Amino acid sequence: MRALFGTAGNPDRFAAEGFKHSKDMPRWLKEKGLDAYEYQCGKGVTVGEATARAIGENARAAGIVLSLHAPYFVNPANPDPDSQEKTAGYVLAACRVAKWMGAGRVVIHTGALQKRTRREALTTAKESFVRLRRRCDDAGYSDLLLCPETMGKINQLGDLEEVLELCTAADGLLPCVDFGHLYAHSLGALEGEEATEAMLDRMEAVLGTERAARFHSHFSKIAFTPKGGESRHLTFDQADFGPDPAPLCRAIARRGWTPTVICESAGTQDLDAAVMKDLYQGFLPASFR
Ligand SMILES: [Zn+2]
Repeated sequence: MRALFGTAGNPDRFAAEGFKHSKDMPRWLKEKGLDAYEYQCGKGVTVGEATARAIGENARAAGIVLSLHAPYFVNPANPDPDSQEKTAGYVLAACRVAKWMGAGRVVIHTGALQKRTRREALTTAKESFVRLRRRCDDAGYSDLLLCPETMGKINQLGDLEEVLELCTAADGLLPCVDFGHLYAHSLGALEGEEATEAMLDRMEAVLGTERAARFHSHFSKIAFTPKGGESRHLTFDQADFGPDPAPLCRAIARRGWTPTVICESAGTQDLDAAVMKDLYQGFLPASFR
């Protein structure tokens, strides 16, 4: 078992090489030496069954592992029953497509604070994720992992502690640790070897080694502002913001952990995911290479 590296959606180079359709992404990723593809439903679940199934078949043929990003419109932290129902609808729709594709993980944002305290929002979100998990199980999606994501804006729920606490609320929840978001949310503090090791230690302490070791992950460099946190995704070539990918690659190689790491760089997801995979392989003990 190895860590897997892949892209969020379709990078610029895919279009530049004349490809248009996500159905072609799995084989393209394999040719670029990558392992995973996160299909984007952030702006809504619009993909039809035939397309979803074709992406899934092509991914299995190419040996590409699929995950799916649920719509951004969810807000598990909002206690309003109508809002909760809408969130459930988006998550169930995302799971239906994930099932068609054979994707194993569905990434879900944790919600906006909207003037509630972080503790109030977290309590609501915990109850929401327990209900979401149950509804997904009842709908036949018990084999899909729901992955609450760490968020990058200050006014969003979802720092590492909050997401780990959410994941303790039910089985079948696995954190999506977005290291760029954590870096931006902490205004640059969560960066470098010591901070990275401490984050992974904390995940292991809360979730146990087995569950922590196969975490889901997003990675990109992200610009931030002191007031708001995350402002925009960058590429690895842009040196003015972090985080540096090397400490994470070194830490997971050294620990023998097997996360799925999805690169969310701005257009260069494929190139930057390959950088991470090379770093990771270089850090693996010689007997594993
Ligand atoms: Zn996300």
